[in-house]
Amino acid sequence: MVLDQVQRLADELIAPNAARYDESGEFPWDNIRALNELGCNTMFVPEAYGGAPMAYRLYLEVVKIVSAACASTGIIYATTFHGLKPLIDVGTEEQKARLLPRIAEGGLGALAITEPNAGSDATGMTTSFTPDGDDIIVQGGKTFISNGDVADLILLFGKWSEISDSRKSISVLVFEKDTPGFEVLRLEDKMGHRAASTAALAFNACRVPRANLLGEPGGGLKLLLASLNKSRPSVAAHALGIAQAAFGDMIAYMNDRVQSGKRIVDFQGNQFMVADLATDLAMAECWLDYVASLVESGGQDFGLEASMAKMRASDLAMRIATEAVQMHGGYGYCKDYRVERLMRDAKITQIWEGTNQVHRQLIGRSFARK
Ligand SMILES: Cc1cc2nc3c(=O)[nH]c(=O)nc-3n(C[C@H](O)[C@H](O)[C@H](O)COP(=O)(O)OP(=O)(O)OC[C@H]3O[C@@H](n4cnc5c(N)ncnc54)[C@H](O)[C@@H]3O)c2cc1C
Repeated sequence: MVLDQVQRLADELIAPNAARYDESGEFPWDNIRALNELGCNTMFVPEAYGGAPMAYRLYLEVVKIVSAACASTGIIYATTFHGLKPLIDVGTEEQKARLLPRIAEGGLGALAITEPNAGSDATGMTTSFTPDGDDIIVQGGKTFISNGDVADLILLFGKWSEISDSRKSISVLVFEKDTPGFEVLRLEDKMGHRAASTAALAFNACRVPRANLLGEPGGGLKLLLASLNKSRPSVAAHALGIAQAAFGDMIAYMNDRVQSGKRIVDFQGNQFMVADLATDLAMAECWLDYVASLVESGGQDFGLEASMAKMRASDLAMRIATEAVQMHGGYGYCKDYRVERLMRDAKITQIWEGTNQVHRQLIGRSFARK
């Protein structure tokens, strides 16, 4: 029932407006409000804090449906989950009771790790957390933060000033948007996901209550890795939504377009390509479902499986979107057909949440004997 409702919303509101939002770059607030009205924002929040929790698998399906209709709206929705899940998993009762109802009421979340000089190697971050009585002084900046300008709560990573070891000092806190000293420096003008905001943020001696620190000072790296394990399947679901949309558009066009007296779907070379993509799509869906079952079983040790899901789903989204443009011929290169946008939207899925080179490195080195 939930999925039917989300699909109806995607068909009636989100998909029909996706091209307009892509063109204008305007933030799709009406899509977000409509998703909230259906309760999609409460799906991953515990009941005690205003939520209506549902299965992780169901959440992933919602991400897929919304992303197939509008990749920008899909990532805005998923980013709140990425930012808030660690608070849900390891926050204290007091923190959850104070902060989570804002999300249940429709607030957005963000996850802030990347800095101008610390991308793939997040341990190079320089944002500092300096304890000062009951507060922490946050100084530094983050870049490329999805929802950074619109989020009510930002899961912010930085380094504890009193710990000298670069990795052991990484800490994490929940940053509230109205904190004095917080500044949105710029919004990126992007190739795709044009309606989703990507912000550069500055934290100018921001005073954050120590009560907003998650875990202990220096506990951030462990938390970062654990939280990425749950956000990577979500990023994979987002990529598979784009892949499904591109595949569907490609097949529809191939069945209509006639050249040399044949539908282009009747050329055997094209059929081989379709067969490979359809099979890879089915396999990626199954793998994601398997990873979701690992998350739901409460296990913690599924980093490699999550990496594989993210890497394969995003490479596949790019491959399918590129072939979909190819099958549309010259029309695929023009904005009249959605595949043009899908190809632009697919690209970033290979870059964010760890570039696919980094995922290959993680997966590959796990096979090297210690
Ligand atoms: C639209 C958008 C939204 C984003 N949203 C967020 C967000 O919400 N929160 C957040 O914290 N970040 C976010 N990011 C940042 C994103 O996660 C980083 O861009 C990404 O991790 C890569 O970092 P980088 O851009 O600094 O590239 P670099 O790390 O500089 O990488 C450059 C190139 O070098 C390669 N490379 C780097 N290290 C290795 C290695 N060890 N082996 C092989 N190749 C390597 C990379 O694969 C890449 O091809 C977003 C980025 C974009 C563009």
